[in-house]
Amino acid sequence: MSIADNIRKINEQLPSSVRLIAVSKTKPVEALLDAYNAGQRIFGENYVQELITKQPLLPADIEWQMIGHLQTNKVKFIAPFVSCIQSVDSQKLLSEINKEAIKNNRVIDCLLEISIASDGSKFGFLPDEIFEFLANDLYQSFDGIRFCGVMGMGSFSSNETIIHQEYQLLFSVFNRLKNSIFANENTFCELSMGMSHDFGIAVAEGSTLVRVGTSIFGERNYK
Ligand SMILES: *Cc1c(COP(=O)(O)O)cnc(C)c1O
Repeated sequence: MSIADNIRKINEQLPSSVRLIAVSKTKPVEALLDAYNAGQRIFGENYVQELITKQPLLPADIEWQMIGHLQTNKVKFIAPFVSCIQSVDSQKLLSEINKEAIKNNRVIDCLLEISIASDGSKFGFLPDEIFEFLANDLYQSFDGIRFCGVMGMGSFSSNETIIHQEYQLLFSVFNRLKNSIFANENTFCELSMGMSHDFGIAVAEGSTLVRVGTSIFGERNYK
């Protein structure tokens, strides 16, 4: 099946409340252009160097989202154009994004990455840690940041019960934040969870953004 067919098939499975992010790490610009021509506008990348190489070669109305671990010293390269940083996992990174956003006269959408899986990403705040972190009020002085929700990765497990439980945990963290610290912020509404192998489960558990790579572009050869 072509990239266009894959995108159409996935969109058919998603409720209208869920948006599809095409995860294009390691894939050539030609593949991204195929996706673009099939109507795809949101792309997720994991590596800064790759993101800044591809961005100028592709149409300007693409929404680029950073979904991979981000080092503070690289924020400056993507701050001028990135539409959302989903992988915010430390105070230091948040401060740096804020600084670079202000320098670029922008407010950058951010998701707080939460570590939910026993064998998943080693990055992200622990579910309890995030409440402690946000309780110190420092984040409120970040004029360059718009808090838009949370992101998490489930386990690479074939045990669906485990994946359901992990996404339920992420949903509950999201809901608690939305009803407490971010109760007055309408923009705090995104729950980014679900990848190629488990987006059906993630949608059932309340996902609003699914990040799909392999099922759109095929297997990756490296990274
Ligand atoms: C690579 C990646 C994805 C997509 O994974 P697939 O299994 O190829 O769909 C989603 N989210 C993150 C954070 C990733 O690094």
